[in-house]
Amino acid sequence: MMPQISFYNTASRKQEPFTTLHPRVANVYCCGPTVYHYAHIGNLRTYVFEDLLRRVLDYGGYAVNHIVNITDVGHLTSDADTGEDKMEKGAAREGKSVWEIADFYTQAFMKDWERLNLVAPSLWTKATDHIPEQIALVKVLEEKGYAYRVPEDGVYFDTAKFPRYADFAGLDIRGMQEGARIGVTEGKRNPADFALWKVSPKDVQRAMEWDSPWGRGFPGWHVECSAMAMKHLGPTLDIHCGGTDHIRVHHSNEIAQSEGATGVTFSRFWLHGGWLLEAPTEEGGGGKMSKSAGEFVTLDFLLKKNYGAMDYRYFCLGAHYRSYLNFSWEGLDTARDSLKSLRRKTDPLIGRATAIASENALGWQRRFLTAAYDDLGFPQALAVLNQMLKDPDLLEGEKAALVRDFDRLLGLGLAEKGEREDRSLPGPLAALLDERKDARAHKDWKRSDEIRDLLKAKGFGVKDNPDGTTSWFPL
Ligand SMILES: [Zn+2]
Repeated sequence: MMPQISFYNTASRKQEPFTTLHPRVANVYCCGPTVYHYAHIGNLRTYVFEDLLRRVLDYGGYAVNHIVNITDVGHLTSDADTGEDKMEKGAAREGKSVWEIADFYTQAFMKDWERLNLVAPSLWTKATDHIPEQIALVKVLEEKGYAYRVPEDGVYFDTAKFPRYADFAGLDIRGMQEGARIGVTEGKRNPADFALWKVSPKDVQRAMEWDSPWGRGFPGWHVECSAMAMKHLGPTLDIHCGGTDHIRVHHSNEIAQSEGATGVTFSRFWLHGGWLLEAPTEEGGGGKMSKSAGEFVTLDFLLKKNYGAMDYRYFCLGAHYRSYLNFSWEGLDTARDSLKSLRRKTDPLIGRATAIASENALGWQRRFLTAAYDDLGFPQALAVLNQMLKDPDLLEGEKAALVRDFDRLLGLGLAEKGEREDRSLPGPLAALLDERKDARAHKDWKRSDEIRDLLKAKGFGVKDNPDGTTSWFPL
């Protein structure tokens, strides 16, 4: 018997057995980056957690429709729908156009994605590719009486019309009203109301703006996610993910506007990843890692300091996704050492896998899956892997097969020789390598050789391993 997959659901504040709306299909939407700057490693921790989720669903036999959005418009620096547009701020900082900024940081984000060995989503959705869907959603909300206009400002969602608004995050609406007498956008009816569409100020030409029934302007950040999720996955998702910091505002707003428009549950499960915390420095600071503080740690910075992307992935795997994780260089060193010592045990097993057949081996597999399926209990799953490697009664071939099997979920590259950093092969070349793998699987040796020569011309050699995998190396 396979263990049952279960997740802690923010909506019910309980761990629940995972079920889907449609049998064996999991529709998953993950809030993606706002591409005005590099992602910091705190942002990336959330995507690592979502990757573990994706791998568990894949392994569990679900056909996963997994969407990650790219926010390239409409995200203001303040959650209260005021402040600067993050994209325009990025453009001003670097003296580039907002479109160039969006393009550049989207590419940078995808590079981080690949280096961390995150499974590619079924679809990346860009907010600027979905403006008509966002306008249509706002129109429905207006028709149903959930929206109102604030002259010269935009269209707002009236949270008083959605009585369940406070439930998701357990908000104290009365406290918000008392605390918000000052500093509220003029014309807003309730402090929690949020912009669905912002009109451009008179005589100001914004870098990104579109015509709408309410005037030229741009969509609110929250409406982007609802419109894209429902367009591609239908009115009810199985899982919606994001960071803990999204619960109070962004996800409460997504629920209000989506359910206001459709009248059905927007997402059956809500999973949220905990923050990565920074230790205070001599200058103060500390707390949730953020970009607003100025300096922040990127994956590139870790690589420059000679850590591997897999060291950081291992560091994330060592803590439960919902718990806070303190970032420290000592902690990262420990993760690097642990991964090295793990690889010393798993490397000699590469290419020796047999079937997982004995009662003993099946028992280890069950223990590992029980941990991983229990609300993504990867710290426990890693412990099971380490214990399994020490089991003197297990045959080498079975150990090798278990490592390969467990790594489908861990994603550490334990089943491949050499440093996992190999993954940073530039995107189009990685695609070629995949194509070659396909060609070989179909015994199309001619195409396989052509691709090998193509890669060679670009400065990369390939080596076919006895276990059927292919490694690459710079020439
Ligand atoms: Zn979102």
